[in-house]
Amino acid sequence: MTATLHVDLTALVANITRVREAVAPAELMLVVKDDAYGHGLAPVVRAAAGAGVRWFGAFDIGTARAVRGELGEDVRIFAWIAAAHADLRAAAEAGIDLGVGDADLLEDAAAAAGRVGRPLRVHLKLDTGLHRNGVRPEAWPRFVSRAAALEAEGALDVVGIWSHIAEASDDEDDDARALFERGLQQAHDAGLRPVVRHLAASAASFARPEFRYDMVRVGAFCYGIRSAGGPSAGQLGLVPIARLEAEVLGVGEDGVRVDVGALHGLPSRLEGRASVATPAGTRRLLSVGEMDSLIAAWPGAAPGDRVIVYGSGADGEASATDLAELIGTIGEEIAVRVSPLVPRSYAVE
Ligand SMILES: *Cc1c(COP(=O)(O)O)cnc(C)c1O
Repeated sequence: MTATLHVDLTALVANITRVREAVAPAELMLVVKDDAYGHGLAPVVRAAAGAGVRWFGAFDIGTARAVRGELGEDVRIFAWIAAAHADLRAAAEAGIDLGVGDADLLEDAAAAAGRVGRPLRVHLKLDTGLHRNGVRPEAWPRFVSRAAALEAEGALDVVGIWSHIAEASDDEDDDARALFERGLQQAHDAGLRPVVRHLAASAASFARPEFRYDMVRVGAFCYGIRSAGGPSAGQLGLVPIARLEAEVLGVGEDGVRVDVGALHGLPSRLEGRASVATPAGTRRLLSVGEMDSLIAAWPGAAPGDRVIVYGSGADGEASATDLAELIGTIGEEIAVRVSPLVPRSYAVE
């Protein structure tokens, strides 16, 4: 494996600062699912905590516990997928904030907290239209009154109410927010007083102030990954933090072989669409060769030359989102698909 993902933690901190300024006074929850979007969980959360981030969005309990292990008791960690009873117990023991979008899970969470002997902090999730998980609006009033009862019993601490939106069209997001507002009111009527209401991810957190509430859950923008079809990173005041470099392995008749760990890595649909920046500053189309290595061809290429598969999105380098747009996906998908076998190298100034 000769490819390397270079991760600039100084740029990460600069992006975090930029996002915090943009969303203030709302709090930033840094989303670190999928190994911090492929950038490496431990270095990312350490740098972010050093920059003052106090909330981390972990997705699963395993990731949440890994963040707890790195950062200790000082930070809040939100996980919103609990697959098994063991997860609930682990969440209660590790003081994880748990997203709960299901009536059965609410009961199980309360029972797990009872066994551990301390209340579990929960954030109740309303389904505002994505239908992924979350309690449907018609079931919400019952759900919140049951949560209030479990809180009164001392099993749960209802600290948050949240939902997730598509961020694909303003109209749909507005409809989702109207449902969210109604859900907040119903929770209030049931006697709940959640202190963190959260709805927005990257795009809405910047573009739509009324979506910020108390906290925003941001992944992509902190890593400098702009939205597909959206404003450039520069316009947003963000810098891509990662650069995927690959070495030329061999020069053959059909081109030059570079290795970026494509087997478990970048989508092969990029073949014939994406190009790499070559040492001469020109761009060459990628194709997928034997063993899923990638092939690019340019005159005078030599083994050992390094090409940039994606990086800054400026000066002839594609960004992750530039690649994503070629195949109709989002920059995050490119970032998380870089093979875990590709070593990460970290720069801090
Ligand atoms: C991934 C995710 C986010 C972060 O989304 P970005 O667009 O990367 O900022 C926020 N909330 C939830 C529930 C997510 O799954």
